Amino acid sequence: MENQFKLAEIYRYLDLERDLQQLKNHYSNLIELETIGFSVEGRKLYGLKVGTGQHKVICHGAHHAREWMTSRLIVDFIYHLLSSQNEPWRQIREEWLDTVSFWFIPMVNPDGVTLVQDGPNRFSNREQLLDLNGQSLDFSSWKANGRGVDLNRQYPIDWEEIQANPGQPSPTNYKGEQPLSEPEIKALVNFVTKHQFDCALAYHSSGEEIFWRYKLPNPYVNQFRPLADKLAEVTSYSLIEPEGIPSGGGFTDWFLTKFKKPSFTFEIAPYVGSRPVPNHLYHQIFEDNQFVLHTVGEFLMDKMTKQHKI
Ligand SMILES: [Zn+2]
Repeated sequence: MENQFKLAEIYRYLDLERDLQQLKNHYSNLIELETIGFSVEGRKLYGLKVGTGQHKVICHGAHHAREWMTSRLIVDFIYHLLSSQNEPWRQIREEWLDTVSFWFIPMVNPDGVTLVQDGPNRFSNREQLLDLNGQSLDFSSWKANGRGVDLNRQYPIDWEEIQANPGQPSPTNYKGEQPLSEPEIKALVNFVTKHQFDCALAYHSSGEEIFWRYKLPNPYVNQFRPLADKLAEVTSYSLIEPEGIPSGGGFTDWFLTKFKKPSFTFEIAPYVGSRPVPNHLYHQIFEDNQFVLHTVGEFLMDKMTKQHKI
C-alpha cells in the first residue's frame, strides 16, 4: 500500500475521493467510510473512522477553501495510522485502537477547495462567483464555500457578535444569514453532536499557532492545559491565549462551549498570507504534526487509567 500511495501535490477533491476509496478497499476491516452530508454543489463530505475504542477524537480540515493543504495532511495521517511501521504510528495502531477511535473529515469545504484550485467554470453560479471575485479568474485567496459564506463563522456560538462581517457573500469573512445556513456545517454539527467526541482537532493554515481557550471557564482551562502545552511542545507551534473578548462563530469556540471537552485549532505552516500554503513547506508541516494524534491518544488513555484508579 505504501508503495502505491503518493499524495497528489495539489490535493483536489477527486484525489481525496480516490485515496479514501483505495483505503477503504485495502483496509476494509480496519476502517469505516461514511458520507456525513453534502456541499452546496452536491459534493460528498467524507468521514473516515479508524479504531473501535470508546474514546473518540475528531480531526477535520479545509473549512477554508485556500487551506486545502490540511486535507492532504489529514489523509497522510490516515495512511500512517494504518500502515507505518515507525513510531508513534505503530504504537497507536497496535496498542490503542480498541480504546481510542479517530474520525477524520479531511475536507469540510470541497466546493471552496475546487474553486481555489480549478476556478469557477464548472460552478452553477459561475457569474455570481466572478462578481464576488472582482471578475478575476484567480481564486487562490478564496476562503468561503461555493456561495461566499465563511464556514468557520457559521457555528451557533456568539454568532451575533462576530466582527468584520461584510454583510453579504464574499471571498472571506461573510458569516451567512444565520448560523448553520450552510449544509456543510449543518452536517458537521449533526455528526459531532451525534458522536459526543472527547477531543476535537480543527486544521487550518497558516501561522504555526494553536487556539484552544475561547471563553472556557478556568476549571476546564486548568484541566486541558497539560494537553495544550504538550501539543505546543510536539508541534513547536505557539499556544495562543485570548486577548480581550474573542470573536466567536468558529468550530473550536462552539465545541469547547457546548461540550466542555478539549478542542484545538491548528494553524499549520509559517505565516504565508492570503494564499494556499506552498508545497515545498509540506514536509516540515508533516514533521511538526506527526505526534499530534499520539499526544491526544495518550491524554485520553491516561485519563482513563486515572478514572479506573479512583
Ligand atoms: Zn482557516
